[in-house]
Amino acid sequence: MSQAKENIVMFPFMAQGHIIPFLALALQLEQTKNYTITFVNTSLNIKKLRSSLPADSSIRLVEIPFNSSDYGLPPHTENTDSIPYHLVPNLFHASLALKPSFKKLIADLVKEQNGHPPLCIITGIFFGWCAEIAHQFGAFHAIFFGGGGFGFACYYSLWLNLPHRDINSDEFTLPDFPEVGAIHVTQLADHLREANGSDPFSVFLQRVLPEWSNADGILLNTVEELDKLGLMYFRREICRPIWPIGPVLLSKRSQDQIGITSELCKNWLNTKPVNSVLYISFGSQNTISASQMMELAMALEASGKNFIWVVRPPIGFDINLEFRAKDWFPEGFEERIKDSKRGLLVHKWAPQLEILSHKSVSAFLSHCGWNSVLESLSYGVPLIGWPMAAEQFYNVKLLEEKIGVCVEVARGKICEVSHEDIVKKIELVMNGTDKGVEMRKKACGAKDMIKDAVKCEKDLKGSSVRAMDEFLNAALAMRDQRKMHFV
Ligand code: UDP
Repeated sequence: MSQAKENIVMFPFMAQGHIIPFLALALQLEQTKNYTITFVNTSLNIKKLRSSLPADSSIRLVEIPFNSSDYGLPPHTENTDSIPYHLVPNLFHASLALKPSFKKLIADLVKEQNGHPPLCIITGIFFGWCAEIAHQFGAFHAIFFGGGGFGFACYYSLWLNLPHRDINSDEFTLPDFPEVGAIHVTQLADHLREANGSDPFSVFLQRVLPEWSNADGILLNTVEELDKLGLMYFRREICRPIWPIGPVLLSKRSQDQIGITSELCKNWLNTKPVNSVLYISFGSQNTISASQMMELAMALEASGKNFIWVVRPPIGFDINLEFRAKDWFPEGFEERIKDSKRGLLVHKWAPQLEILSHKSVSAFLSHCGWNSVLESLSYGVPLIGWPMAAEQFYNVKLLEEKIGVCVEVARGKICEVSHEDIVKKIELVMNGTDKGVEMRKKACGAKDMIKDAVKCEKDLKGSSVRAMDEFLNAALAMRDQRKMHFV
C-alpha cells in the first residue's frame, strides 16, 4: 500500500528575487516524488506564479489574504518589484501583519489533513516569525535563502551591527566576522550607508534577522566547498544547522521580454572561436548610468573582443520608451558592431544559461547577483565584477579575494569609470595573462566542485545532496518524535 506523501509548505517574502529561488526549490523537491508542495503567497504573486509553473506540476498554490491599501501602499501592489523604493518599508511592515492569516492557513491545512501537520514549513528570510506557528502545530521550520553564504553573512552582520556608523575612516571591519577583512564604504548599498539604527530598514531588519535562531535550520543556495567562510559565520552566529543545498537554479524562466531566441544566440556563438566572447549582463533588474554605458561601449570597441551585451536603457530612461541608443552609445556604435559581426546587442533579456554554457564564451562581466555567479561558475566561466546593490559587493569580494575567479571593474550604478580601465580588466581576463589563466583554472575548479556537490550516485553523494538529505531527515525525525508522543 502506498503511503500518503508528506506535505511541505513554502512561503517566501513578496519579492521576485525571493520568490524565484523558492520556485526553483519547490520544483526540485517536487521532482523527488516524495512530497507534495503547498506554495503560499499573496494573490497577485500567486497569479504570476501560476503562469510560470510547468503544465505538469502538482504544486498547489494557496493565496494568503492581503490588502496593500491597508499599509499605505498603492492598490494592488504586493511585490517589491512594483513599488517605489521608499515604500519598501511599508511592505516589510505589512509582511509582519500576515501572522494571524498564516496561522489560520496552517490550521486549515492541518484540519484538511485530518489533524496531520505539514512535514515542514520553509519560509523566507524575513519570515523567521513563522517558526512559532510551525512549532505550535508540531511542524519542522526552516528558512531558505536563495543567495550565497559569504555575501549574505556580510549583509546580515552589517545590518545587525551597523559598524560603519561610528568610524572616521572609509574602511572598517565586521565585529562578529573579522575573517572578511576590510570593507570600504563604497561597498555599502545606499540605504545601508545611510542607516542609523532608527531608520525603517534597520528597525525591520534588526527585528527579523535575529529570529533566524528560532528556526530548526537554515537552507542556503550555495555549495559547501565554495563558501566555507560564510557558512562558518552562520554556524557560529545562529547556532542552528546550516544546510548548503545549492545550486538551486531555475533551468527555464518565463520572460515576456525575451530579446533574442536561444537558437539565434547559439548560431552567432557558433561562428566565434573557443574562449573568445565576453558576455555582459547586469541581471534581471539593474542597469547602469548613461555615461557608464558610453564608457563600456567605448571599451568594447577598443578591446576588439567579441561580445554579447544585454542592454537595458540606462538609469533615468524609461524601459518602455523607444530604444534611443544614440543617447548612450558612441555615434555609429551599433552599425559598426553589426557590420563587423563582433558584437551582439540583446535588448532586455537573453538566454543566459545557453550563452554561458557555450564554448565560445570566455568571461562574464556581471553585477554578480548570486544566480549569475552560480551559473557562471557551473560552466567554469571567470567573472569581471561590477556589483550594484545589496550583497553583490561581498559576492565580488568572495569571488575575487577568496576564490580567485573574478576581478572587480567598477562599483555601483553612478561611480565614475573609464573605458581605459575597463579595457585593462577585459584584457587581464581574456588575453591569456598569468592572472587570467589562473582565474580560468580556478573557475574550472569551481565548476568541478559544483558538479561534485550535486553528484548523486549509489555510494557517492555530493555535499549538497547530503545537506538536502540531512535537512529532510531532520524534518522526518521531528515527525516521528511527534507520532511517538501521541502513541
Ligand atoms: N537572466 C537571464 N537573462 C537576462 C538577465 C538575467 O536569463 O537577460 C537570469 C539569469 O540567468 C539569472 C537571473 O536572471 O538566473 C538573475 O539573477 P541574479 O541573482 O544573477 O541577479 P538579479 O536579477 O536577482 O539581480
